[in-house]
Amino acid sequence: MDEKAIKILLKTIKTAQDESLSDWFYWDHYMQYITRENFEYAKKHGVMYEQENINHDEICRRIKAAVTKIEKQDVVNAFLYSLSTRQLEYRSFLSSYCIAKSLAEHSFTPSPAPNEGICAVCELHTYEFEEPIEFNTINYFKYKDGSCFDNLIQILFDLEQFPKLPLVKPCENDDKILKELKTIIETSEPGDRVSQLKKRISKTFKSNDGERVAVLEILGVIGVLHDDEHFGYADQYITYPEREHRLIRNDDVGYPARWWQGKFGIDTEKWKYWFGEN
Ligand SMILES: [Zn+2]
Repeated sequence: MDEKAIKILLKTIKTAQDESLSDWFYWDHYMQYITRENFEYAKKHGVMYEQENINHDEICRRIKAAVTKIEKQDVVNAFLYSLSTRQLEYRSFLSSYCIAKSLAEHSFTPSPAPNEGICAVCELHTYEFEEPIEFNTINYFKYKDGSCFDNLIQILFDLEQFPKLPLVKPCENDDKILKELKTIIETSEPGDRVSQLKKRISKTFKSNDGERVAVLEILGVIGVLHDDEHFGYADQYITYPEREHRLIRNDDVGYPARWWQGKFGIDTEKWKYWFGEN
């Protein structure tokens, strides 16, 4: 991807954040901080996008269409490649692919009152797709944090983005990092959670705290990190009511990694499914 285009995206959103913590993610807000010329440039290079009207059912249809064109090994490679290179935009394709594979096309299904504005299958809120949808903040999180996504609008963006990036192959160093991660997870204390694990893996690859949590969240989504009640999306799609939160004040780790503890170790079957004998 074009370096200048990426810089334009990051700078625009960062400026908007600095100007307003409550409004920065709105199109009308962050677009004040970019010139038309720069926006056109970033658009031309596939880094920024116009808003689009897409309804709930169309979001599902497009996700299913996008995922059929993607090979599993290519997203595994992308994830591994991101570890040593710190090219964070390659990281989330793996978990997005896993969620998209298990997702069933469905029509908007209202949750029981008073949450009838939330789809009982996928958790999309009507307000998310009644107005034009913007994708630039999603791309910002890809490049800046390598975030793990589970919202269907993010999944759609991620999977439609994948074919626009060159295919990549992991190197020996990536395999080494993966092996180290596995060993560290497997030697966790029984009561350890993501907050301990993110510290214990800090030497394995160049990263900050947020990036490490995202990597662990991705491992959760693909079925590697879970407890004995809350599983990832590899075997079946996890519906909105099933994505339970822990009853603690700051439950800010994604589902299901938030439920993992050291005593549950690694799901070796899922590890093999994605990473082979590594
Ligand atoms: Zn839905």
